Amino acid sequence: MVWQNWSGRHRAADATLLHVRSEADAQARIAESSGPVRICGAGHSHAPLVPTDGTILDLSGLAGVISSDQQSRRAWVGAASRIFSLGRPLHQAGLALINQGDIDQQAICGAVATGTHGTGHTLRNLSAAVTGVRLITADGKALTVNESENTDLWPAIRLHLGAFGVITRLELQCREAYRLRERGWKATFTDLEADIPSLIEEHRHFEFFWYPHNDTAIAKTIDETEDEPEYPLAAEGGRCAWSYEVLPNHRPDKHTEMEYSVPAAQGLACFKAIRELLQTRFTNVRWPVEYRTLAADDVWLSSAYQRDTVTISVHQDVNEDETAYYQACEAIFLAFDGRPHWGKVHYLSGDELARRHPKWQDWWRVRNAVDPEGRFLNDHLRRLRGG
Ligand SMILES: Cc1cc2nc3c(=O)[nH]c(=O)nc-3n(C[C@H](O)[C@H](O)[C@H](O)COP(=O)(O)OP(=O)(O)OC[C@H]3O[C@@H](n4cnc5c(N)ncnc54)[C@H](O)[C@@H]3O)c2cc1C
Repeated sequence: MVWQNWSGRHRAADATLLHVRSEADAQARIAESSGPVRICGAGHSHAPLVPTDGTILDLSGLAGVISSDQQSRRAWVGAASRIFSLGRPLHQAGLALINQGDIDQQAICGAVATGTHGTGHTLRNLSAAVTGVRLITADGKALTVNESENTDLWPAIRLHLGAFGVITRLELQCREAYRLRERGWKATFTDLEADIPSLIEEHRHFEFFWYPHNDTAIAKTIDETEDEPEYPLAAEGGRCAWSYEVLPNHRPDKHTEMEYSVPAAQGLACFKAIRELLQTRFTNVRWPVEYRTLAADDVWLSSAYQRDTVTISVHQDVNEDETAYYQACEAIFLAFDGRPHWGKVHYLSGDELARRHPKWQDWWRVRNAVDPEGRFLNDHLRRLRGG
């Protein structure tokens, strides 16, 4: 069986793909072997984070809500739980994820590995919701990592890039179950522009997709409501139901994606520079640009580390060569002090990443201490590290 990612862009033809269904098996496999190991989630990263010519571990069997605590509103979940599989059991425990991304197909541990996020200016990414981790290290030991145990690992591991070891379960900060009402509409960018700051400020969630061929945006707001859920669910843009039913969308068209996080105050200016690029140099691109917001956090490699953020994503069909378009976008993002999404396309070197992430060297120091031989690295991560 050959591992490949969601878009088919990345394959690991020479890897041995193994399925692990218990923590004990994961420990034994790591302890008894010596070659490189990567762990796959749901394969939804556009960056080549998983491929290796060693072993790829698929932890799909380690899924589901393991325990939940009403008082702290925290839950331990299997690392490979697909996000869509968490909604219902958390709801039955009176809980819900604080926010979710555009889709809910990712494994929760894969999503936190790259700082996956949704939208909302007061809402942080999924990595910031992690309150504990169960880790199998390169020597086969199982550790619990949280604010009070193995504290050296703690600030680094919430956004881990699969580079610390095998994570078998995660503890997540949730909140009480809640209902949401979504409102979507279409507008020309010129009509929408003036309202964007107040739409961000006044709504729990605001985002838009802008389409270059007609200069039109599909915008939406989502807010908490006490209204009863409306079934059958309306289409995207008109739903009213529990959070786990309203937040995820269906995005089946195969594409590649680049996303950068820029300081919130620079978001609109950066978006307008990307819009001008599409209107003047890349007039054949039909895929939209997505605009979202994200609250500052304290996760070392988070794209929102210590700064309120706007995220801007550009897309291209998976069968097209996106390089020239993405390189031109990246030059703009960098001019706006952007930080790349770890799960999407970017062309930065370790030195460039170090300039953008104040905790870059600290993250590698902590990582290298727990895996000195680099067993949990692949070519992509070694390139990011710089050698
Ligand atoms: C259609 C689509 C929509 C998307 N929407 C959004 C969005 O709205 N917001 C956003 O921020 N991103 C989005 N993304 C990006 C996506 O959320 C991230 O790339 C995410 O990391 C993918 O998760 P995954 O489970 O597929 O993990 P993979 O891509 O399989 O792996 C990601 C990383 O996690 C590591 N990993 C996975 N499981 C473990 C484990 N148990 N132990 C140790 N390491 C592990 C892997 O080694 C790898 O480094 C989207 C991607 C696609 C294709």
